[in-house]
Amino acid sequence: MQIRDKLSILADAAKYDASCASSGTNKRDSRAGGLGSTTGMGICHSYTPDGRCVSLLKILMTNSCIYNCLYCINRSSSNVRRARFTPEEVVDLTLDFYRRNYIEGLFLSSGIVRSSNHTMEQVVRVAKTLRVDHQFRGYIHLKTIPEAAPELIEEAGRWADRLSINVELPTPADLDQLAPEKNLDRIRGAMTVIGKRITQAKIEKRENRKASAFSPAGQSTQMIVGATPTADRAILDQASSLYQNHQLKRVYYSAFSPIPDASSQLPLISPPLVREHRLYQADWLLRFYGFKVTELTTPDSPNLPLDIDPKLAWALNHRDEFPTDINRAPRETLLRVPGLGVRNVDRILQIRRWHTLRLTDLMRMRMPMKKVLPFIITADHTPHRIEKHTAVMARSEKQMELFAPDVFTPLAVG
Ligand code: SF4
Repeated sequence: MQIRDKLSILADAAKYDASCASSGTNKRDSRAGGLGSTTGMGICHSYTPDGRCVSLLKILMTNSCIYNCLYCINRSSSNVRRARFTPEEVVDLTLDFYRRNYIEGLFLSSGIVRSSNHTMEQVVRVAKTLRVDHQFRGYIHLKTIPEAAPELIEEAGRWADRLSINVELPTPADLDQLAPEKNLDRIRGAMTVIGKRITQAKIEKRENRKASAFSPAGQSTQMIVGATPTADRAILDQASSLYQNHQLKRVYYSAFSPIPDASSQLPLISPPLVREHRLYQADWLLRFYGFKVTELTTPDSPNLPLDIDPKLAWALNHRDEFPTDINRAPRETLLRVPGLGVRNVDRILQIRRWHTLRLTDLMRMRMPMKKVLPFIITADHTPHRIEKHTAVMARSEKQMELFAPDVFTPLAVG
């Protein structure tokens, strides 16, 4: 099979893996030799209607797999056309595309062939060859197989900027149902090993600048949403636990999409894409705004509202806590005001040390006034009581479809 054909199959098979953001790695450049660079803020992402993160060469080593995860287009029982790269072919493609300025790095995943160790060896060989033989300084994200030998994971972390292991589904029961060969304890065990090595490497680096790095941009994972009836509360519980226990950089949520010849255990339609969007918003609130899962959902309402964002929903359910005086309130209270982001909250805290904030100040800071005004007090503004159907709430947010409805959308791998 021609390289072009393999590329077409294996890039297509990889594009639905959401865990591909590339920010947060160490700054490196090749002015003193070598090839490629990263920036401290990560590389740019481009999102297209039929894929994600196009600035990385995002491919699978192979779309053959000995596992049979029912939600996956590459499962062993799937009737798709198969292809397989050799490590050398992946290295050549990465270098070619990099030199042509098509990409800024590599995102490499793989179906499992022969065994977890064999597959992981192939993936590691690509990264090692790029780094050692070609002095490649660009970004590398490797998908890790939880069952692989610890020494292979150790080596992967040595060459990669980021490692990820997909947790795939939010609960053990979901995995038993749709991916019985996978095991949540095993996945989390591998995450623990990676998390500990990342922490250890950071300590070593502080003590000795020449110490080897280990996955300096951390680890991430992906969860598929809507393949089972599991509610947002359980999904966010899992995410929250992963952040706390494994210091994950990101949990990515990927809305389930029907696949050809699908099992009868899978739903016939995808969940609304706005659900994925709400989960990302809630995830942000958990990580940066001090919210807890129990504040965003309840046992009686375990799913996030789809019509309004979770922060606004929380505020409308806690009207007695508003309006907030932005000239006096502590940071944690300001962070709960709908429309106020972390950056604006920090600017408010800075400005109000020497100046009493008025509406014109907020406008100058380009705040979303329509959203913020019902919830705040300034020197020249006190809102009336917050009506249930404020203009902000009445606004119905609709997320654009990522995929045309009549196109089958295969799912993540690894
Ligand atoms: S999700 Fe990964 S392990 Fe499961 S069938 Fe797909 S490629 Fe194989």
